[in-house]
Parts: sequence; C-alpha cells; structure tokens
Amino acid sequence: MAGVLAVVLMAGVVGGAWATADTEVVTVTPAPKLRTLKSGSKGEEVVRLQERLAELGYYTLAPDGKYSAETKAAVKTFQAANGLKADGVAGVKTLTLLYSDEAIAAPKPVDVLAGEYPMLVNKEHPVPETFVPQDLVMLTDDCDAKLVKIKYSQTQAVKTAVDALVTMLEAAKEDGITNWQISAAYRSYQKQVTTLNAKINTYLERNKEWSKNKARKAALKTVAEPGCSEHHTGLAFDINVPKSSAFKGTKQCTWLHEHCWDYGFIVRYQEGKENITGFTAEAWHIRYVGVEHAKIMQKNNWCLEEYLEAVAAETPDEEETLDEEDPLTEDEVEMSDEEEIPAEEDAETPDE
Ligand SMILES: [Zn+2]
Repeated sequence: MAGVLAVVLMAGVVGGAWATADTEVVTVTPAPKLRTLKSGSKGEEVVRLQERLAELGYYTLAPDGKYSAETKAAVKTFQAANGLKADGVAGVKTLTLLYSDEAIAAPKPVDVLAGEYPMLVNKEHPVPETFVPQDLVMLTDDCDAKLVKIKYSQTQAVKTAVDALVTMLEAAKEDGITNWQISAAYRSYQKQVTTLNAKINTYLERNKEWSKNKARKAALKTVAEPGCSEHHTGLAFDINVPKSSAFKGTKQCTWLHEHCWDYGFIVRYQEGKENITGFTAEAWHIRYVGVEHAKIMQKNNWCLEEYLEAVAAETPDEEETLDEEDPLTEDEVEMSDEEEIPAEEDAETPDE
C-alpha cells in the first residue's frame, strides 16, 4: 500500500500540474491576484471587471478593457449599493466582494417623481432595502462650487431636485444671500445602516452603563431607522452654512424658510409637527415635492403627512387614511438619570 502511494506521489507534481491516483492530470488555476484598478487602468483585468459589473447590471457598455468614466461610474454605483465607500476605485475590498456570491446586483431604479402626489417616506412608510431612486447625479457635477459648497464630494441626489436647488440658490444670490452648504442628500439603505450604527456606538462609548437597546433608542431620536429616512428618496437635502454649527437664526435660514416653497421645496420637519412627522424639528432639512404641492402645503401650513391625509379625505373610495398614532411618544427615550442628548445641527449627518 505504501509503495503504491509513493509511486503516485513521485509521479504527482509535474510542472505545476497535479496527478491524481488514476493519473488524470488536473491543472490548478491559481485564484487571480487582485490588484487595484482605477481610472487609466487597462487590460484583461479591466475586461473581467466590466464583464462582472455587466452581469450584475451596473455596466451597460461592451467590455473594452479600458477603465473609462463609465466604468468608474459603474464601480461607484456598485460600491454604493453594497455598502462600500463609493470612490470609483476598484480596490481589493471592492473586487473581493464584486467577484463573490455576496455581491448585490443592481436594483431597478425607482422614478420617485412619477406619482401624482409626493412620495411619503417615514417610520410607517419605509422604503425596501433594495430601493434606489432613478436619475441620481453627483452634486459636485451639477452645482457651481461658488454657489454652494458640497461638504462630501460623493453626495448624490435626483437630477430634478438638484436643478431646483440650483435655481433656488441663484435666486437667493440675487437677494444677496450666499454662503450655503449641502451636508447630506441621497443616502442609500446601507449608508443609513452605517450612520445609525455609528451613532449607537458614539452613545455606548460616552455612556458605559447604557444597554445597546437604550443607545439605539437614543440614536433613533436624530438618525432615522434604515428605510425610514427621507434621504433615501434622493429628494431631500440638509442645507446649512459652511463651518457654522447652528443654521436656525441665520439669514440663510430665514430666506430659505420664506422662499423655498416657490422652488418646489418644503421645510419637512417643522416645529409643532413633531407628533405627526415623528421627527424633531430640523430647520436645515428640505425636501423637493414640486412647486404646485409645496405652495399648497405652505398656504395651509401642512406637513407632508397632513397634506396627503387631506388629499385622501377628499378622494372618494379611499379607505386608507394615515395612521394617527404618535410615533414620537412610542419611541420616547427615558433620560431620567442622564445628561440630555445635545442638540446637533448636523445630527443626521455625523462626521465620519
Ligand atoms: Zn436631513
């Protein structure tokens, strides 16, 4: 028996090939070594990358082995949909996930402006994990840096909303109001998961005796549950003043709250509406709904939930009305023996 084994072993390794006991030769293909690919990269590895991106629905051109702007954009979208840093550089982390079975395919984008009435996203109306809005653009591509500073270069939003934002800020400039910043816009489901977890961890680090559940409840006061943030729609912006910690009380805030309606935006979370929206008032969070709807809401002092409820009440055969429960009370955090949660202007967008 030992003799037979010795013969097999001796005959075994021949020039990198592998002989099995019945002498069938199997060539072992080594796992391809993953090398970072980025703009300017060329060759077979880029072809393989493009083919895989196409298979998952992120790349629509014929693979040509050139890491073009389209390839970069496809990598970015893949990264964003898979919870990776969306920088358009296919590093080892991106490539490993891309070629694995865990890679999430491109979801079919949703036309968030197709409905007759504005899309509602809140705690009772979440979007699914695979939700991606249609027509996302990079803010840095569409907004003049002199008009508005984009705090994070990868920030995206729906094209129509970005165009309305630019028109609005140009009008503000005409009125002598400049110096704006966008600190958040579209946020993917994965990004919201990361944002919430970061907030929970901050609370746990600050308050060693807190349970995870208590930290989570506290975090949910300022960061929406994944799926429940309006930022998923690509129609919401957090707008403020660069390098300023407070937005409320600034001349920019005053101008915005007076004029945003004329450009199709609403101040989504207003004081006095907390019990309906389920969120603390946020002077800096605006949402694009279109001029017609925005003006009706302004005139009636309705938040989006109230507007949609009024519309539903007027529509015959519409049985479903909005849930009138008080979500804020439900989620209330017991802070008895604690310092209270500090008000954070940028609360929804912690610096990472
Ligand atoms: Zn916001």
